[in-house]
Amino acid sequence: MKIVSVEAIPVTLPFREPVSDSWGTYEASRHGIVIVRSESGEYGAGEIAFAWFGGAHSLCRDVNNYWSEQLVGTDIADRTKLTATLDALCSFSKRHLLAKAGVEMALWDLLGKTMGVPVYRLLGGKLSDRIPLTGGMPMDSVEKMAENAVRRVSEGYSELKLKVGLDDRKDVEAVRAVRAAVPDGVKLRVDANMAWKDAKRAKALIDEMSHYGVDIVEQPLPDTMLDETAWLKRRVDAKILIDEGVWDVHDAKRVLDRNAADMLHVYISEAGGIDGARRIFELAELHGVECTIGSMPEGRIGAAASAHVAAAMRNLSARPSDIRGFTAYADDVTVEDLPIVDGQLVVPDRPGLGVTVDFDKLRAYTIQD
Ligand SMILES: [Mg+2]
Repeated sequence: MKIVSVEAIPVTLPFREPVSDSWGTYEASRHGIVIVRSESGEYGAGEIAFAWFGGAHSLCRDVNNYWSEQLVGTDIADRTKLTATLDALCSFSKRHLLAKAGVEMALWDLLGKTMGVPVYRLLGGKLSDRIPLTGGMPMDSVEKMAENAVRRVSEGYSELKLKVGLDDRKDVEAVRAVRAAVPDGVKLRVDANMAWKDAKRAKALIDEMSHYGVDIVEQPLPDTMLDETAWLKRRVDAKILIDEGVWDVHDAKRVLDRNAADMLHVYISEAGGIDGARRIFELAELHGVECTIGSMPEGRIGAAASAHVAAAMRNLSARPSDIRGFTAYADDVTVEDLPIVDGQLVVPDRPGLGVTVDFDKLRAYTIQD
């Protein structure tokens, strides 16, 4: 079954609430939705997720102007050939991994729909029906964070992830307040997003936070500080989870070879798609390192792809993943929502990725680029 068209459509997906980071405040994220069609008329959908900048829209132009013609005419079952073509298109820029992920996801969706099976079956079958998620805890006042923690636990989340890194004393205080506010069985992790620049200071902070039960620390040091991260890993009780330091399997190899991670946080988008993510999981397994899955945040299409990978990977950690970024959007371009029940994402069971594009909504959110 040959590919007859590959189209990347620039969209804006509205956030429920404006999102701020150090570059600005955003009412909506700028994504690309990829639609690949086969000669049967069936379509597959993928998502180019690059939430904060306009970057995904320029990636859409690359896909439409240069990539499409290289893919049209290839059989959708020729996965090795399609992967090689997409890999060659990513030679010069890491950002293109995001475009590759969008196209690759759509190809898996199309293959699954054509064969009448969910993508997790194409990956070897699912090992679980639901994927446990962390309860997200953005930075806020200590009191608000403690309130938020109680709410998250009441929603069913059994592990909370606190964003830290701007104010060391306040961070420790927030961890202490959250620990005091929730039952002892609730696990805590922190995500420093590379904010700590000094390994010895990071060790002292982690030791303090460990006292309150923090047992996973996500990306404590900049991704360039691999030797320092390995040093830290050997000296703290908490597990070091590497996020920003790993995009694709080449990054994963570098981190694992230096023994700088207890766990890896894998993003389907950063890995260049489902197959790229699977390669990281398999490499990490050889090193005895478990993985969790993060989100860019993708919308529902990307989240569905993440769920299929999570369900099918042997060394997915029993500790929760972060496939919940899609809940930040007020609306999306699929007919179905993805249910989260008791803090666990339900893995879609329909053929392909298991989500249906609402083409009226896709048109409504398309921007003229
Ligand atoms: Mg992170």
